[in-house]
Amino acid sequence: MTSRRQILKAALLLPISSRSFSVEQPRLEIGARGNEPVIVVTPWGQHVVPTIDTYIDIETYRTLRPGQAWSEGIPIDHRLREDYRAGRLRLRRYPWRVMDGIYVLGAQGQEQQTYLVDTGDGLILIDPSLETWQDEIVAQIYELRYQPSDVRWVLLTHCHIDHSQACHQWRQRGAQIMAGEGDAHPLETCNSLVESWIVDSMLAEIGRPAPAISERCTPSPIDRRISDGDVLRLGSVTLHSISTPGHTPGSTCYYLARDKKHVLISGDIALHNGRHAWMANPYANWEQYLAALEKLSHFTLEGRRIHFDVLLPGHGTVDLEQAQRSVDETLRVVRTLVARRAAGEQIDWIDVYHWNWTQGVVYAPEGGGR
Ligand SMILES: [Zn+2]
Repeated sequence: MTSRRQILKAALLLPISSRSFSVEQPRLEIGARGNEPVIVVTPWGQHVVPTIDTYIDIETYRTLRPGQAWSEGIPIDHRLREDYRAGRLRLRRYPWRVMDGIYVLGAQGQEQQTYLVDTGDGLILIDPSLETWQDEIVAQIYELRYQPSDVRWVLLTHCHIDHSQACHQWRQRGAQIMAGEGDAHPLETCNSLVESWIVDSMLAEIGRPAPAISERCTPSPIDRRISDGDVLRLGSVTLHSISTPGHTPGSTCYYLARDKKHVLISGDIALHNGRHAWMANPYANWEQYLAALEKLSHFTLEGRRIHFDVLLPGHGTVDLEQAQRSVDETLRVVRTLVARRAAGEQIDWIDVYHWNWTQGVVYAPEGGGR
């Protein structure tokens, strides 16, 4: 699910916020588990742990002046990417700690995220990702001073292979596999919902040939089928499921409260600053997806409205605060896409920073200024 950058020609003449952002150097605490994240403050004052792509988007937004086209930021892109490759620009390194007991794992340099949650009575592994990355994932679990056998539950946000391919390996190690009802059958039968072109592009990025289709997916029994509103009590952790179909029939987000923060595990449904799910698959359902985002944006629990703080998406930048803003932005972007498609336009992707710049959106602290 890499983003597709379209080069548009015009930018509107509006001032941008002069608010700058800063990179805080990582600090390693004695005895702490995992790497400290490298935190960046966005032009609207939100603390995030960015990927290189988001870092470049933010820097481009901050550097361009009114009247300049987004494409004039290409030299910034090249310079920062070179700095990153050469090790002069330090961004996050897996495994890194979001908060006590919640860690982000993954293949270094990739933006496919696996989460590890310590329940006090075993670990939850969320979206274990591709088989080819499991040696790294396992090494990171050891690095965090856990054992792979501590993983009691594997929780899937959806069936796509980039999130789910390795789940059968974790089941063999003894973990219970849990997935949204609508994605359970695809995972158990490896039908066409699980496999997609996504894996080809991801493997091409790391220079590996795509495997034959028969090697891609290993069927895995699903031990628990999750429905909307299910409450999962796993050790000391309570997760609330939110069915969010559209990207796949069984796409599911999970909410938990931890350290007085409202945490949303969002898979591909709502990502940083309005990034949205890849919807070019034939079974994708835009109307369902839009309805799911409306529900997520207005999520209530026991009659109380929840405003999300921390966003743990399946890909990309992690919001340490103001996650609700990203959910609301994704709703705005998808609403726009649905309207443009209804008007006959062939469009299925918006690159949000670029799009906002081109529209003349001004980012200002505390989310105002639009
Ligand atoms: Zn997906």
